[in-house]
Parts: sequence; structure tokens; C-alpha cells
Amino acid sequence: MSIKVRFAPSPTGPFSVGNARTALFNWLFAKHEGGEFLLRIEDTDKERSEKKFEDDIIHGLEWLGLTSNGEIIRQSERSEIYKTYLNKLLEGGLAYWCFCTTEELEIERQAQLSQGLAPKYSGRCRGISHEEAQKRLQNETAVIRFKMPEKTISFHDIVRGKVEFKTALIGDIIIAKNLKEPLYNFTAAIDDFEMKITHVIRGEDHLSNTPKQIALQEALGFNHPHYAHLPLILGPDRKKLSKRFLEHSLLDYKNAGYLPQALMNFLVLLGWHPEEDKEILGIGEMIKEFNLKRVQKGGAIMNSEKLEWLNAHYIKTLPTNELFEYLKPFIPAFWLNQETMIKKIVEVEKIRLKRLTDFPKQTSFFFMLSDYPKDLLNWKETENSVTLANLKKISEIVKKIPTDEFLKEGIEKNIMALTKEKGRGEVLWPLRVALSGEEASPGPIELIDILGKDETVARIEIAIKKLKNG
Ligand code: GLU
Repeated sequence: MSIKVRFAPSPTGPFSVGNARTALFNWLFAKHEGGEFLLRIEDTDKERSEKKFEDDIIHGLEWLGLTSNGEIIRQSERSEIYKTYLNKLLEGGLAYWCFCTTEELEIERQAQLSQGLAPKYSGRCRGISHEEAQKRLQNETAVIRFKMPEKTISFHDIVRGKVEFKTALIGDIIIAKNLKEPLYNFTAAIDDFEMKITHVIRGEDHLSNTPKQIALQEALGFNHPHYAHLPLILGPDRKKLSKRFLEHSLLDYKNAGYLPQALMNFLVLLGWHPEEDKEILGIGEMIKEFNLKRVQKGGAIMNSEKLEWLNAHYIKTLPTNELFEYLKPFIPAFWLNQETMIKKIVEVEKIRLKRLTDFPKQTSFFFMLSDYPKDLLNWKETENSVTLANLKKISEIVKKIPTDEFLKEGIEKNIMALTKEKGRGEVLWPLRVALSGEEASPGPIELIDILGKDETVARIEIAIKKLKNG
């Protein structure tokens, strides 16, 4: 049997971390099994569904690289299919029109609550025949309810093991507002069958929907798919994630300077870990090792520090040319004219970079030296006069190196010879500060290599002047 899974988001909000984790687990399972991954947009709720959210989902998936193996399926384009099945259920006496008003239902609910009962529909309209309903529909509004058979529905959940529900507690659920407006549990049950979905992998918040969908599928004579419910994602305090957090779109992470590789690695660890307890997993390893049986039951704790750490790791280890492509949107346009130089900067700066957004601020000194305080030039307790003498010496050395021999190795050899005589910190620190104007930066040899002879000499002169004026 070939594996087929679907990611079925409702476009009623941004593409959140929770959604992305569900999408990733589906995608990995399909890839691991050599199966298919499909995207189904569950947009039957016309009031709450919005095109901008659908776009956000599609772009978020694209950014992560979670491509689907077929056309996007939109439930809003499938009403004829649902109508056929609704009619089938109505005509077969497996569903019925319910004319109860909201007020009537509310009274019923309150009465049940006051008796300490869990509220559910009483089944008052169950007895209304199809013919009678047709007549009443001419001047009354009604919804369609499914006649929930009274039984225990049990299924094997790949993550949670055997799960049982007594349908008597659920009652006759509404499956459509009318023939043109079917609701979630019904459309999901139909589509999972029609699309030949073999495994439904989704968040634990849908566990209570599963018996409803299975009951519907059984009523229609379908076989139901396998189910795997993924653990809830919790905050570091082990509580449910705040609403504000859930409103973050994956693309907010993109704009905040995270790499998709870091996000993918972060997401895969939200409820799953490989056999060997490692934290860094590239896509290839994830696909190879992913297995639903290793998904945990307990809540997955979301730890933002881990994301920061993973992001720094992927920035550091990505080949410079590739990283440069990811950095481009964050680099001021006029810098991009100097591509060779920028690439050199990327090469030496990537080890210090936590987010792509830090790049312009962290490297602006290459383009413009700031007016740093003179004392920054002194290594520890070194006197101004000593620093000044050292910088003068460095300046002489640098000036002497012919421009066409101004190569990293040569500079390094000359400067290092001086450190033997004057001390490492006493030479390298003031030189580095003179070249960067910053407390922290790559080492002076790397900086000289990028800035070139003229700029290096000019910057050392500025430092010398500062010290002389003091
Ligand atoms: N549309 C549902 C949601 O966004 C998912 C339904 C499902 O996976 O069955 O939560």
C-alpha cells in the first residue's frame, strides 16, 4: 500500500509553529516511506477563512521546503462532492434535518448542565422524516445532523496506542449548515476517504474529532485511515502557548533572520527525537530517521533558546556562498555592489552571527568607521604612550609591504613577528580596534585582508591621531 498523507490547515490564522510542526511530521513520514504529501486547505468556514492566511501557509511551506506532491486541494471547490454524500446520508436515514432554534438548544443545554450532565443534543428532530423535512424547509431554516450510533469507537493511535470513545457522550453532531455548507468533521471524513489518505497525522487537539470522523466513515462504508496525534506544544513553563505566540507566522521568523534549516531542525524536535540522542539534524538525516513510533505522548516543550542556538549553528556551518544568498535581503543595496568584499566579510563574520538581521549592524564598520573612544585602543592596563608606539611600528610595517604582495600570509608573518617583541595583546588589540572601532570583531589579520592596504593605513593613522591628541 502506498503511503499518502495530507496537511490540512484552515486558513483562519497565520501559519504558526504548531501548524508547521504538523506539516513537517507529515512530510517527513511521507518522505521516509516513499509516499505522497498533499496540501488540503480546509476553507469551508467562509467567515473566518481568508486568502491572506492561505498565502501565508503556502509561502511558509515553500520557505521550509515542504512541497506537496500534487495540486493544492481546496475544500471550498469541492461542494458538489460533499453534497452528494450529504444527500446519501439523508436519504439513507443516517442523517436528518434539525429545526431546533438556537434558543431551544440553549434551554436544553442549561437544563442538562443544571442536572450535572454533559451537554449534548437531545435528538429531538431525529424522528422528522425526510419528506416532512423537505416541506418544512420551504419556510424554515435547519441544519443537518448525523445520527450518531450508540457504541464504543476504539482505534489504534500510532502515538497514543489504543484510544476509546463512547459515542453516547457525543450525540448527534451537526455535519452541515445546509447542503452547500458542510462542516469540518464531515468534510475531513469525506476527503480523507476520497483522497485515499492512509495516515492522518495531526495535533492532539483533534483527538476528540477522530471518533466523529470514524463514525461518519463507518456510516458511509469507508475504511478509516491510520491515526497519529502529535503532542501539544507547550511553553517553557509547561503551560499552553500564549495566543500572542500562536499568532506568529513562520514568515515572521524568516523576517527576523532565522534560516529555514534552523526552523526545520527546531520543529522536528518538538515531540520527536532520533534514536541516538543528537540535536543537530539535517534534512537528509531527518528523513532517514523519522519514525512515528518515536513521537512522544507528553507535551513538547518549546524552548526559544534552542532555536537561537540552532540558528547560530546553521549560519556558522552553511557554505559562505549559500549563506550570502540568504543574507542578501538583509544587506543594504549599495553594499551589494561590492560582492567579493561582502563575501569575504560573510566568511569571517558568520561565526559571530546569531541572526541574519544582525549582519548589517555587526559589519557596518567595514564600510564606515565609527568615532570610537580613544581608550578602547589600550589593551588592559597598557599606557597610551605604549599603544601609540606600537601602532606607529605597525603602521611602518604595513606601509612597507608592497601593494602587490599585500597578502594575508605576508601580513600575518610580519605582525606576528612584532607580537613576539611587544606582546600579543599589546599589538593585536589596538590594531583590531583601530581597524574596526568596535569592542568585538574578527581578528586584525582578517580585517586587514578585507580592508586592503590603503584603508588599513588610513585607519591606523586615525588611531594614532586620537592617541596623540590625548
Ligand atoms: N483544519 C484543521 C486545523 O487546521 C486540521 C484538520 C485535520 O488535520 O484533520 O486544525
